Amino acid sequence: EWCELDEIVKKAIKHFDDGFFDKRDIVCKSSKKHLLVNVDFILIKQVLINLLDNAIKYSKPDSQVLITVRNNEKQVEVSVRDWGTQIPTEDLEHIFDKFYRVRSPRQISGTGLGLAISKGIVELHGGTIHAENSSVSEGVTISFTIPLAEKPTGIPAEMGD
Ligand code: ATP
Ligand code: MG
Repeated sequence: EWCELDEIVKKAIKHFDDGFFDKRDIVCKSSKKHLLVNVDFILIKQVLINLLDNAIKYSKPDSQVLITVRNNEKQVEVSVRDWGTQIPTEDLEHIFDKFYRVRSPRQISGTGLGLAISKGIVELHGGTIHAENSSVSEGVTISFTIPLAEKPTGIPAEMGD
């Protein structure tokens, strides 16, 4: 379905704002407002929730989480960056595998499915997903892309730009 990417981001952030989770400073920087994408709203929201859940879970309670949305004519890229624990280089290529978890001294609960599910959803939409450690400081960035399709006629102009 056609929807605005901002709305998906907003709803995903709201998911962590219901009092059940610790308050976290989640900031979103977006290159373009009201960017229209043709996706399953619930599924892409779930991808963002999985990435935000990791960013929160694997970083300190007082550190920031940054969502960056960038686009060109062909695709939009959504990145979730945290300032927490890095992922050992040898694990980077495996973290999108089902049930794969990095051996960690701190016991942090999880099933190792979040990223595998996210990869499945992103690829279903024709996009890609990848993870990298920050080269300048602590933290991890996980980014996914969604191809931008031709905007259908009949969508009011003010919703397009
Ligand atoms: P689940 O998401 O199913 O509750 P999980 O978080 O362990 O469990 P994934 O989300 O698939 O599973 O992540 C796989 C592994 O990748 C994690 O166990 C963790 O070791 C590592 N990882 C993922 N995101 C981050 C991150 N932002 N910072 C540090 N490590 C991460
Ligand atoms: Mg997870």
